[in-house]
Amino acid sequence: MSTETREAVEQGVLGERVWFYANYHCNLECSYCLTESGPNVARRLLDADWMVARAQEAKELGFRTLGVTGGEPFMVSSMPDTVARLSGVLPTVVLSNATLFTGPRLERVTEALAGKDVHIQISLDAPDAQANDSKRGDDNWQEVADAIPRLISRGLRIRLATTTEAIAEGDLERLCALHREWGIADEDHVVRPVVSRGRAALDGIGVEAGLHDLSPELCITADGAFWSAFGPTVRNGRVDTDFLITRTTAPLSVPAHAMLRVAQARPRGNDATLGIR
Ligand code: SF4
Repeated sequence: MSTETREAVEQGVLGERVWFYANYHCNLECSYCLTESGPNVARRLLDADWMVARAQEAKELGFRTLGVTGGEPFMVSSMPDTVARLSGVLPTVVLSNATLFTGPRLERVTEALAGKDVHIQISLDAPDAQANDSKRGDDNWQEVADAIPRLISRGLRIRLATTTEAIAEGDLERLCALHREWGIADEDHVVRPVVSRGRAALDGIGVEAGLHDLSPELCITADGAFWSAFGPTVRNGRVDTDFLITRTTAPLSVPAHAMLRVAQARPRGNDATLGIR
C-alpha cells in the first residue's frame, strides 16, 4: 500500500500534499469564505497529537508535504507548536489571515516557527485597502501590510495568496511590486479565483469547480477525508459532502487508498487547474 501511494505521488496521480483542516472558526468573516468561517461557528477541531500521527503516516505513504488550513489556524493557541511539530515530519504550509500576529502570539509564532521548514501563506486580495477590505473586513489591508514585514524581519517564511473574481492588470502589477518590496518572490505569490462554494455560492459569485478541476490532494477534517482543500466547505452551517472520500481518517492509509481509487478512475490527461497552494 505504501509503495502504491508513493508511486502515485511520484507519477502525479495523487497530489504530494496532505491537508489538515485544523479548525473552522476565524476572527474574520470574509464575504467569499468557502467555509462560512467566523467567530461563532462550529469549531470542528483536529487534535494536535492526532495530526502529528497522521502526518507521520503520510510520510510513510509517500506524501511529501503538509498543509494546515481552517478557519484561521492561529485561533488555536497551541497552533505554533503544532505546526512546528508537523514541519519536523514534512515541509509544511499554513494558511493564515495574519491578523493575530501581535504581542505574545507573535512571540510564540516566532519562537516556534522561525528557521523551520514552514511557510505561512497570508491572504491579501488587492493593492488598495478599499478593494481588499470590502471583502475581508475593515482595516484588514493595513493589518496585513503591517504584519508581513514584521514576520519576515523575524525570520518567518511568507507566501502571499490573492483570491479574486477579477483583478485588473495594473492592480496586479502594483500588488506584485508590493510583495517584492516586502521580499516575497514571485513564485511565492499565488493568485486564484473565488470558488463558488460556501458564502461565495450563497452570494452567487465565483467559478464552479468539479472534481476534475481540483488538484487531487487528500484533505483531512474532523468530518472525514475529502478530495482537495476546496472539498470540505460549508454551506448554511453544514459541511458539503460532494467531495467526501471516506468518513474514516485514521489510519491515513484508508482515505489515501480510497482517494487513489478515485484518482485512477479519472480520464488520462485531465489536469486539475485549481489548487489552494
Ligand atoms: S476566508 Fe479565511 S480569513 Fe476570511 S473568514 Fe474565511 S477562514 Fe477567515
